[in-house]
Amino acid sequence: MAAEYPTELSFQIDGEWVPRGNRDTQPVLNPANGETLAELPLATTGDLDTALAASEIGFREWKAMDANARGAILHKVADLLRERAGDIAPLLTMEQGKPVAEAMGECVGAAALFDYFAEEAKRAHGRVLVRPTGTRSIVVKQPVGPVAAFSPWNFPLFLMARKLAPALAAGCSIICKPPEETPACAIELMKCVIDGGVPGNVAQLVFGVPDTVSTHLIASPIIRKISFTGSVPVGKHLMKLAADGVKRTTMELGGHAPVLVFDDCDLDKTLGILVPQKFRNAGQVCVSPTRFYVQSGIYDRFVDEFTKRTEALIVGNGLEDATQMGPLANERRPEAIGALVKDAAAKGARVTTGGDIFAQNGYFFRPTVLADVPIEAQIMSNEPFGPVAMMAPFESFDKAIESANRLPYGLAAFAFTENGRRAMLLGDAIESGMVGINTVGISAVDSPFGGIKESGFGSEDGPEGLEAYMVTKAVHQA
Ligand code: NAD
Repeated sequence: MAAEYPTELSFQIDGEWVPRGNRDTQPVLNPANGETLAELPLATTGDLDTALAASEIGFREWKAMDANARGAILHKVADLLRERAGDIAPLLTMEQGKPVAEAMGECVGAAALFDYFAEEAKRAHGRVLVRPTGTRSIVVKQPVGPVAAFSPWNFPLFLMARKLAPALAAGCSIICKPPEETPACAIELMKCVIDGGVPGNVAQLVFGVPDTVSTHLIASPIIRKISFTGSVPVGKHLMKLAADGVKRTTMELGGHAPVLVFDDCDLDKTLGILVPQKFRNAGQVCVSPTRFYVQSGIYDRFVDEFTKRTEALIVGNGLEDATQMGPLANERRPEAIGALVKDAAAKGARVTTGGDIFAQNGYFFRPTVLADVPIEAQIMSNEPFGPVAMMAPFESFDKAIESANRLPYGLAAFAFTENGRRAMLLGDAIESGMVGINTVGISAVDSPFGGIKESGFGSEDGPEGLEAYMVTKAVHQA
């Protein structure tokens, strides 16, 4: 793979790629070997004020544009993303770690979001209410205003697009603050947006000290909407900041997805779906299958076969073609996951494979299976956000549901059964924003993606994803 990581990184404010100047910088590290890829300049509060002022002007112009014209621009952005995916994907791998094929999938998935919202914005209809002759009451949808969007490092391109595309489609301006760990792919996405025709004061990109940027942007009266994807504690913190200005929020927070495997499932097919999905992106996925509750009659077979397939995974640098799982995205993750695994083992869990950090350089953690994990183990309540599958047996449907629903999280849940009635009851009983039955495919551009309970609120994707960037107004006329 011949791709070169850029030596100069920058952010984009009011149409200008801001030079480093004497700004503070932060190194961007390659998680496969710990080497520094480049230095990232961090925005000052003065930079943020310039972005805010530009965003206010950009919003006025962009919202006045016809939805069809905005849609044409967004389709162009999608085309550029697809055209440039081959160049962008290796950069994403270098800074985040995932295999290039997965990085390509992110680019193509992001393009699909722009195509979908380019069309969906045309259907943001209001309604006319029945009123006496000579009077009218109408309900209209309008863009909420300038948006501040904070996206995380696990899908650094796709999750930024998941906020950019609907916000722009709705007629909002947006200031994106993607993670500082993975800036190059965010920069490339922003270049596609600008080259596609979105004005530089409508879509802007900043990097900085996360808390400084979020506190400053959220406090500004110009910002009317906050969208965040990340951890529950940071989500709660941002919600408190947003409360001061009574600002709308979309919160896509953590999960701890249960997987209920019933003894009537097609076991081979189920394993064929679950093992690759568990270790996709090294398990750093908010909807990653995490707590495997397996009916007792097939439990031992499931653990053995899951372990064998896990041992066969090829772990390495994501730039190498054969790699199926790359390193973790940053230095703090292997240690955090290792501590959770150690705690589980001390409390009686069996480590059937993996369980430790490996490789001298780089942030690798071996794909890990823990069997017979007791409920007291921290990992059964704290999101591991890594390549660890925890397993425990269950006897009855009711016990399985009780286990699935016992945490404050409610993002994704999965169940595997060939019994249609049981499948229907599972869909009703599981407390989760998304349920996959005999599938892990729970994310699609036209379907709402989001959690309940402490996993957050406000769906992304689908018509609900557009609605999140609009306000509803009733106009009564006599
Ligand atoms: P963290 O809680 O420090 O940060 C989570 C994310 O929020 C990061 O992207 C970070 O850049 C951002 N962030 C942190 N403080 C912020 C602030 N004050 N304002 C704005 N953004 C801020 O955790 P971490 O070590 O980066 O990630 C580990 C945990 O984060 C995982 O255990 C997982 O629960 C969660 N996470 C969830 C998702 C998701 O898709 N829901 C994605 C990434 C991380």
